[in-house]
Amino acid sequence: MTTQKSSTGNAPHFPEQVTGMYILAKALKDNGLDHMFGLCGIPVTDLAYLCQQQGIKYVGFRFEQQAGMAAATYGFLTKKPGLLLTVSSLGFLNGLTATINATVNCYPMIQISGSSSREHVDMNQGGYEDLDQYNVAKPLVKAAFRVNKASDLPIAVARAFRAAVSGRPGGVYLDVVESCLGEIVDNSATKSWYFKPVDPCPAMIPSPESVDRAVRLLAGAKRPAILLGKGAAYAQIDDKIKQLVETTGLPFFPMSMAKGLLPDDHPQSALSCRSTIMEEADVVMLIGARLNWLLSCGHGKWNPEGKFIQLDIDPDEMDCNRPIAAPVVGDLDSSVSAILDKLKDVKLGMDPAWMEKLKAETREKNARFADRLESHKKDMPMTHWAALDAIKPILEGNPDVILVNEGANTLDDTRDTINMFKPRHRIDCATWAIMGMGMGSVVGAAFATGKSVVAIEGDSAFGFSGMDFATICRFNLPATVVVFNNGGIYNGIGVNLAHNGDPAPTTLDIDAHYEKIGEAFGAKSYYVTRPEELAKALAEAIASKKPNFIHVQLAADSGKESGHIGYLNPEALQHPIA
Ligand code: ADP
Ligand code: MG
Repeated sequence: MTTQKSSTGNAPHFPEQVTGMYILAKALKDNGLDHMFGLCGIPVTDLAYLCQQQGIKYVGFRFEQQAGMAAATYGFLTKKPGLLLTVSSLGFLNGLTATINATVNCYPMIQISGSSSREHVDMNQGGYEDLDQYNVAKPLVKAAFRVNKASDLPIAVARAFRAAVSGRPGGVYLDVVESCLGEIVDNSATKSWYFKPVDPCPAMIPSPESVDRAVRLLAGAKRPAILLGKGAAYAQIDDKIKQLVETTGLPFFPMSMAKGLLPDDHPQSALSCRSTIMEEADVVMLIGARLNWLLSCGHGKWNPEGKFIQLDIDPDEMDCNRPIAAPVVGDLDSSVSAILDKLKDVKLGMDPAWMEKLKAETREKNARFADRLESHKKDMPMTHWAALDAIKPILEGNPDVILVNEGANTLDDTRDTINMFKPRHRIDCATWAIMGMGMGSVVGAAFATGKSVVAIEGDSAFGFSGMDFATICRFNLPATVVVFNNGGIYNGIGVNLAHNGDPAPTTLDIDAHYEKIGEAFGAKSYYVTRPEELAKALAEAIASKKPNFIHVQLAADSGKESGHIGYLNPEALQHPIA
């Protein structure tokens, strides 16, 4: 076997010889990893070509971060890691943001990045785009591997695949050194290198004692509730979740990306009773949900006497913020099945008055919410509520459409207004509440499901990923991007405290015509100022099954500072300013 570096200018004599890149492409394909989102350049351009040649769908982006958001969303929806391909240095760093975000959100993905020659990086000699990428990524992602020789590539792919999907899913970084990408080897020698990992995502069965304990606690509860998180959506055990909710008769509350796991209008839905559950429930069963900041870290309004049952794959999650009375560590499929089984022999002690109370509260809150929407119907210029009132019947009438949603007020108000009826049909900025997942998630969702996608974006949020509307158009995806333009971060009425004529820090572009971005790339584009125009445009756009862009002109004073989470700001503007 001869081994040469292609950086010497040698080309392999295919098919007798192949490069590391070829081996990597083939190993990915052999493992069924068939969607790659990326941005080409030195040293990975040929890798993208070879992946495409292998039959991997290659989706080229304008910004690595968006390619990464696509890979992550693809992973969340399919349980199969989406692949992100990045170049060295800045490309790697741009993509890494998405890989870290995927890790935080428990989405499986693999970032593959070319990296500069180890000799230069390790000696800090100023080689081309040199950066110690592996060590930058390692502390921030679920797992990281650096591959120096072509013969290790199939092992590296298998390990990355396993790490991404097994246990708590997450983002994995695969650093492939430029010399390894270009290494030339005899093809005949490579045959024995390829393999398929056996059972990359094994079931993790919870202990019978943990299941007994959980069921005993649930049985004794007077005011129990089930809280569903996006881990429950990810697990794709929709029938079992439905069975658990319906056979127990318990109220359930879905976190934002668990909406639709059971329909939001299900008779046991306690979506409108979040505070009451926190304050009054005596036992809450968390299923694939974490007691993180989105749930006040288990404190705040939560009943201090309340007890938790937590179903999670990660043992470290237990007692993270509050003691967990009944931890059930295992994969959700196994854990929910075991609990269902155990429940057959058990009579639950829920007080019927509890469910009645939650139902009455749901009726009252929903009526109030409907009144609120009604009262804003005619707001002109439109407010978020007027626009959402127009959008609600169209989206709810198309429950198969996947909704991507980010922004501040645009996020909060859309989540509250639009009911979801199907599992995994809502993708949003999730655990970190980050802005800048929009266009990438649209692309990832479209490829993962083949379904139509509608993104509802704040104008600021859209700005982070807007250029990748081009990618939606290049692949002619059935996707509509709706931008709510209120001219700023939170709103467009920020005041410049220096009064020097500059825009305020939160001020953006109230007079912009974002729909021209749609026009630039050939999408059908709309500029709407009235609710009935918006409803008509959205209905047409969804029906067209093509790329569409809708600019929704809102009032600059629609929306408040930080939306629903203004309380997290450490300083308020009314404090004296020097
Ligand atoms: P949410 O934001 O909706 O509350 P999180 O992302 O915070 O949801 O929590 C999801 C939880 O689900 C994580 O703790 C993760 O470990 C867990 N999880 C993800 N997939 C599985 C699975 N297949 N089985 C068990 N737990 C899972
Ligand atoms: Mg805005």
